[in-house]
Amino acid sequence: MVMNILVKNLLFLYSFVSCFGCNGSSQYTVSILGTGYVGLVTGTCITDMHKNDEVRVYCLDIDSYKIANLKKGIIPIYEPGLSELVQKNIARNMLFFSDDIAETISRSNIIFLAVGTPTASDGSVDTSYFYNALEQVVKNISRNPTTLVLKSTLPIGTGKKVTGYIKQHADPSITLHIVSNPEFLREGTAIKDTMNADRIIIGSNASQDLQDIQQLYSPLIKKNIPILYTDLTTAETIKYASNSFLALKLSYINEIANLCDKTGANIQQVAKGIGLDKRIGFSFLQPGPGFGGSCLPKDTLGLLATAKQWGISLNTVEAAVATNEYQKLMPYRKLKKYIPGKSLCNTTIAILGLSFKANTDDIRYSAAIPLIKKLQEKKAHIQVFDPQAMEHMKRIFPNITYCDTSYKAIENADAVIVLTEWDEFKNLDFSKVKQLMRDAIIIDSRNLLSIATLRTLGFAYNGIGIS
Ligand code: NAD
Repeated sequence: MVMNILVKNLLFLYSFVSCFGCNGSSQYTVSILGTGYVGLVTGTCITDMHKNDEVRVYCLDIDSYKIANLKKGIIPIYEPGLSELVQKNIARNMLFFSDDIAETISRSNIIFLAVGTPTASDGSVDTSYFYNALEQVVKNISRNPTTLVLKSTLPIGTGKKVTGYIKQHADPSITLHIVSNPEFLREGTAIKDTMNADRIIIGSNASQDLQDIQQLYSPLIKKNIPILYTDLTTAETIKYASNSFLALKLSYINEIANLCDKTGANIQQVAKGIGLDKRIGFSFLQPGPGFGGSCLPKDTLGLLATAKQWGISLNTVEAAVATNEYQKLMPYRKLKKYIPGKSLCNTTIAILGLSFKANTDDIRYSAAIPLIKKLQEKKAHIQVFDPQAMEHMKRIFPNITYCDTSYKAIENADAVIVLTEWDEFKNLDFSKVKQLMRDAIIIDSRNLLSIATLRTLGFAYNGIGIS
């Protein structure tokens, strides 16, 4: 196995030297279909890791408005450091944006598919965007050979289906290399996660499919980022198995935190105590209002749907999903201890944080959504603030009060619920907060704030798993 990886890396280094060579000609024209969180970061990082004459990257999207903005330097998402990196690589004449998908595909010799794969109404994966994009690619490829990189998170078995689809529909005179290269970046640290990934997974069913992707990733390979070569189905499975494992960890620590709430144990010390065990580690042991975002909720459901198709029960993953459903309304249950549900009518509740986690504007599956729905049902007046995510939330809840600052959201509130762990909430002036509020109740669903400070100031403070 190790020998296998070594031989592949040596072969790759040889082909890299002979292919990129010293003559300075641009070797790869890369198209990325889907300029979202993954496509934009991937495209930008690929340009940034190469010299000017090595690659040109075209980020493509069916959303012409998004592309028009990107051409003007307007970035559609909040991701720390991304705007600067995009500007830099536009200026290097390496990064381009287009909605002319057909024409750009025909000029490209590496094509990434990075479109969304949301959850369908039955819990399975909605692959319609993916297959639409694939159809566009297959119709328009003309460079021989072309490498097709499956970057979206795709149901296990998709790579094999794509191989079959291509055999049926693609021009047989063009050699198409199919590679699965699932993405593991985290929103908020996406650039670091791409440039210094823990690992790169590359699945293929034939070794000749690997050459171009290896050359494209050569700057990362040279940094000694571990690469695992697998077949297509194994690469797809690694992605779902990783995300489901992270979901298990989060649901586990959330349940232990709920137990600590009853027993009086301190979840922060419990998490430290178990995380010190190297077999467990510290990451993903912070309790909170359930996991959200574009990945863990949909990928756990996606894995369960695949298991069902194969007649297998994944009891642990099912439990993680069920625990998460329960956990989402944890802040509401804590609030009810102070203000019973039926008394919420005509109260003002401030929510600090709407994105599913800090350092992103992504609200997909954010705990804010079920919480706001519940509070609306109880007829509470809701005032919110988030440094990045308010525009997105306005589309779902146009009728709550969006405030320019945390302090404005807190004004006249009967209770404050901290939902997202943005640093700026930690640094609020809590004497001022207390003066602004009608009643000094704080539900801290991220254990972000200093209990000692808040209790000294006379707040009724409720964290998770700490008393
Ligand atoms: P996204 O919703 O931010 O972006 C998807 C983009 O694809 C949209 O801009 C959409 O307009 C575009 N699109 C749809 N159909 C298209 C087509 N036919 N041609 C061109 N563009 C098209 O999605 P995302 O968060 O970037 O996720 C993309 C994939 O990566 C998903 O499978 C997701 O599960 C996976 N992933 C996401 C993350 C993350 O943190 N967001 C991390 C790892 C993996």
